[in-house]
Amino acid sequence: MRRLWMIALILTVVASSTWASPPADPGGRGVDWAQARAKIEQFDWAKRIARDMRQEVERTRRQFVHPPLGLTGWWHHYYCAKDAHRLTFDPDKPTEHVCPACGAVYSGPPYDDCWRSQVHATICRAVQYAAVLYRLTNEDTYLDYVRDILLWYADHYTDFEVHGEHAGKGRIRSQSLDEATQLVTLAQACWDAWPALSQADRERILNGYFVPDARFIHAQTGAIHNIHSWHNAAVGLVGMLAGDASLIEQAVDGPFGLKQQIAKGTREDGFWYEGSVGYHFYTIRSLEPLYLAARARGLDLSGTEKFERMYRAPLRMAFPNGELPANNDGWPGTNLSGMTPYYEVAAGLWPQSDLPAYLATLYGSRSRTGLDALLYGPAPLPPAKPLGADSVLFEDSGIAILRNAAANAYLKFGPYGGGHDHRDRLNLIVFAHGRVVIPDIGTSGYGIGLNRWFRSPAAHNLLVVDGGVQAPCSGELLAYAADRVHAAAGPAYRGVKIERELHLDDEALADHVTARADAEHTYDLFYHVRGTLAKCSVPLAPAEPFTQGVGYDMLQTPRRGRVDGTVRLEFTLRDGPGRLVLACRSETPFEVYTGTCPDNPADQQMAFVMVRVRARTVTWENSLLWAGEPQTTQARQGR
Ligand SMILES: [Zn+2]
Ligand SMILES: [Zn+2]
Repeated sequence: MRRLWMIALILTVVASSTWASPPADPGGRGVDWAQARAKIEQFDWAKRIARDMRQEVERTRRQFVHPPLGLTGWWHHYYCAKDAHRLTFDPDKPTEHVCPACGAVYSGPPYDDCWRSQVHATICRAVQYAAVLYRLTNEDTYLDYVRDILLWYADHYTDFEVHGEHAGKGRIRSQSLDEATQLVTLAQACWDAWPALSQADRERILNGYFVPDARFIHAQTGAIHNIHSWHNAAVGLVGMLAGDASLIEQAVDGPFGLKQQIAKGTREDGFWYEGSVGYHFYTIRSLEPLYLAARARGLDLSGTEKFERMYRAPLRMAFPNGELPANNDGWPGTNLSGMTPYYEVAAGLWPQSDLPAYLATLYGSRSRTGLDALLYGPAPLPPAKPLGADSVLFEDSGIAILRNAAANAYLKFGPYGGGHDHRDRLNLIVFAHGRVVIPDIGTSGYGIGLNRWFRSPAAHNLLVVDGGVQAPCSGELLAYAADRVHAAAGPAYRGVKIERELHLDDEALADHVTARADAEHTYDLFYHVRGTLAKCSVPLAPAEPFTQGVGYDMLQTPRRGRVDGTVRLEFTLRDGPGRLVLACRSETPFEVYTGTCPDNPADQQMAFVMVRVRARTVTWENSLLWAGEPQTTQARQGR
């Protein structure tokens, strides 16, 4: 099977490696070069961006004469197995990869292969910067660098072996995704240098690398998915450079092309269906280059209206400090303030909307930064427009965020989002005391063992039945108002109906969780607090380590107590002042377990609380309190 697939790929590449002469002028790719030059003349921030780009090009040219030959690795492996910190890439040390947190040194495969991937990425970024600098300054030194590296790749493309075990096959890089992201970067650089390249150079680059690589990538396209959207960007940009109408058509209008990715992959509320803020922005980044180039070319982009909404969704989803939920395979600590490159593009695409004012908000008092500010954003920004402070419902994505001046409570109940979904219907995130205190810890690099913990049921703030993983399913919204939300987990566990109802007021979050079944089950309701347990209202004794259930083995130093009525646990919070009280109450006697577990990265710890009942039916009327005393019956009384 694998051999047949490889033959098909090779035939595709060989059969289609000839075409008419490339166009002398591919047109614009969406950059207003005159405006970019004017920004550098007028604004100090733009001068600084250009200066930083010059320095990066010079540094990279000094460090690497040419890209490395040899196998490249999957960047998800480039993480410390002990604490999930990303390893430090040292350009001078191809066989030494150090964890910045614990100092562990890794070497050999796959780490050395990952190092080579990063050298390619570093060089490609420098080439991208050099091409822009050439376009802005006409200095030959930048053109020489761009030309030299592009021709090097063209001459060595076939020296790289097809390889990759994860998301598709790569050639220069280790998966089709990275093969595509590299090609996008270099196609944009080639585009910017195009007027100064000879026709012979253009053909050598297109024939030797770009077109065969675009066809190799396109042969692996066949889904609505962030990876396939990156494929389109590579295929479409190369098509435009090569004057290949078929590549352009497939990338823009094909069944898995740009337009279908936006129309089918984006939910009505603007959130990408994979359900992670990380992949949401990563998909936006894949859509931008082709959307900009197609728009500049005057292609019909009807049916892509949801693209603008994609930029708006995170503005509504962020907590008051700008932090975004690390839902599904999202990265913890991601903050809107770091997303300005995306909003520079958006502000350039929709200058008459309020997106430029939101961009000003994201910068705050900081200076504008990054290539996108130079190439796409409006020259001066309008006055800032503050983010909304009201509760929001992402009805199609199935996320509600209750908000008031004191706290935010996030509840997820939406449809299954595919392989990046954590199967965590009715997961809770709580923001209080100015930060996320009950988190979703997101993901790490996928290549380390700790990732199993981050994705596990026991790492989420939800009800787990018999230690099992939820089915890939959709939950259901039962009721929503600005201060309350009520949802069901759907068919997450066979034969069990689970509901959760939140009610937020100024002092507390009432959190009622119910499970009903005809047969007896073990119900474990989890909370994870960024803090340490200071007091517990029932006596606790050491408990046996957990051996069953996914992720339970990461729950450390468990202690156990019996509860008849209510247990009150008080926490001293980490990362700043504040306390949190969790009160759990049920008419069914239950057990409370508490201890510590890894946060993400895992050199920080959290406290966990698990309340456990063996029964057919259970109702917990819990409350989380950041000030004053708990009022466990608020949700009922408020109706
Ligand atoms: Zn480490
Ligand atoms: Zn998760």
